[in-house]
Parts: sequence; C-alpha cells; structure tokens
Amino acid sequence: MYADLHCHSTASDGMLAPAALVERAHAQGVGVLALTDHDTLDGQAEARAAAGRLGIELVSGIELSCTWAGATIHVLGYGFEAEVAPLASAIDALHGGRWARAEEIARRLAAKGMPGCLEGARAVQQERGESGNAPSRPHFAEFMVRAGYVRDHAQAFQRWLGAGKLGDVKQHWPTLESTLATLREAGAWISLAHPCHYDFTRTKRRKLVMAFVEGGGHALEVSNGPQVDSQVGMLANTAREFGLLASAGSDFHGPRQWSEVGSYRALPDDLPLLWPRLTRMEHPKSKEQS
Ligand code: AMP
Ligand code: MN
Ligand code: MN
Ligand code: MN
Repeated sequence: MYADLHCHSTASDGMLAPAALVERAHAQGVGVLALTDHDTLDGQAEARAAAGRLGIELVSGIELSCTWAGATIHVLGYGFEAEVAPLASAIDALHGGRWARAEEIARRLAAKGMPGCLEGARAVQQERGESGNAPSRPHFAEFMVRAGYVRDHAQAFQRWLGAGKLGDVKQHWPTLESTLATLREAGAWISLAHPCHYDFTRTKRRKLVMAFVEGGGHALEVSNGPQVDSQVGMLANTAREFGLLASAGSDFHGPRQWSEVGSYRALPDDLPLLWPRLTRMEHPKSKEQS
C-alpha cells in the first residue's frame, strides 16, 4: 500500500528503531509514512532524517491515549506543529503519567508474587533501543515471560495486563475532549484509531464517533492492519454517514507481530482519504472554512 499512517518504533512499544522502521517501510513500497508512537514524539527526528535520505514522505504523527466513558481510546494526530505549547505540555503530562502508571503496574504485579517487573520491563525496552519513556504493557509482558511468571504474551495479557485486568492501569489519561482540543490547537489532522478494538457494542461505538466528531475529529481509521473485511466495511459506512475522511495504517509494532509495515486491508474506493490532505500540507482549518 502506498500510505501507512500508523506504526510504532522503539520510542514507544515497537521493536525497530525509527530509522530502521522507515527503511523497512521504504523497502515495502510505502511512499507516505507517519510514525505514530504512543504519547511521544521522541522518534520523529530520527525518522525524519531517514525519510530524507530515502526520499519517502514522512508526516508528523502521534497516537495519544485518552479516556472516554470509562474506556481507554486512542486518537491519532498528523501534520501538526510539534512546538505548539499545549501539545508539548500535554505530551509532558502523559510522559509523567506513563511513568506513574508503570510504577503502579509493577506494584500491583509485585503484590501478586511477581517482583521486579518495572526493572525487567525497562531492561527489555533498553535492549531494543534507548528511550526515556516509560515501559508499556508489551514490555511488561515480555519480562513476565522471561521471568517465568506466564507462559507467553497472550497469557500475560489474558491474566494480568489486558482490558479490565489488574495491570490495566488507566487513570492517568486525559479525556477524549481535551485530547481533541489539544490536537486542534496544534493544527493537527485527527483520526480515531481502530474503532473496532474497544470491545464496544454498536451503539456505544456510534456514541464514541459522535463525541469524536463533536470534539472536532476529521477522520476514521477505517482499515487497521489485518482487521477483517466486515469491520472495514462497517467503518466505511460510519465514515460516510458522519462525513469523515478515511484513514488507514498497519499499526506495525515489529516483524512477525500484528502486521507488516505498509500492509492493511484495502479501503472501498469511494471514500475521501486523509493522506492527500496531509501531503498537500493543507491546514485542517481550511477544511472547516470550506
Ligand atoms: P500501553 O501503551 O501500555 O497501554 O500498551 C498498549 C499496547 O499493548 C498495545 O498497543 C498493544 O500492542 C498491547 N496490547 C494491548 N492489549 C493487548 C492484548 N489483549 N493482547 C496483546 N497485546 C495487547
Ligand atoms: Mn502499541
Ligand atoms: Mn492503538
Ligand atoms: Mn498503534
């Protein structure tokens, strides 16, 4: 696929350093790429340098965690000005919140007879690349496997880290509404990430999309990696109904994981796409005025 607007590097929970990720995307034929690490812009400069060398177009990107109706939601922002104060301070706050959360996850696991998880998760993370960011749940999962606390990643999430489990600590995220406001202030194009991954009923998912539209969101991630065709079709309908642009990305985290970089199910071809807006570097405000 030509554009990939969703992937991760070692700046968050990906396996590849930003430059290696951009090289892999280029080798897969990606022409327009956004690196969307969780709650950090730390990988952007390295990715930009690599993109310049290879002649691949890199759009600034981030995947922000927030809460809505008691659930953790992911929102993707693109083409923003990184230096805008509200975005920079929101990212600082998330950084602090993620560290506090990682400590809390480790405390809870220690209380269940699994000591050393923060140091262990940190070691896994450091092994993959330098990062001052807090370890994410996949880093915890990897350490828990190595320590023999669980059989594999799947079990780590099923028993301890997955939605609603002891290690699913989420109280530090800002609200969806304030996250959308922050991204709008930074002049970002905003997409709702993987709307089918939240374990919501149809009705609740529709309410989420309505709140997203009300908060000034522009696009829906209609295709996310190998997500099944029926979900792509359903999200395409939602995008049409709400007049949202369609976005797509692999959500690549590493080789032999969820998906390959640059690959996701095809979008229906009548949908207006997000990435032409990004590459023309249109400002989202110009859309609001038109
Ligand atoms: P965190 O940033 O700490 O919230 O971790 C989020 C990441 O954990 C996601 O991007 C996934 O890579 C991974 N993850 C979340 N839930 C699961 C699950 N049930 N099974 C496997 N991986 C998961
Ligand atoms: Mn992730
Ligand atoms: Mn996500
Ligand atoms: Mn992601």
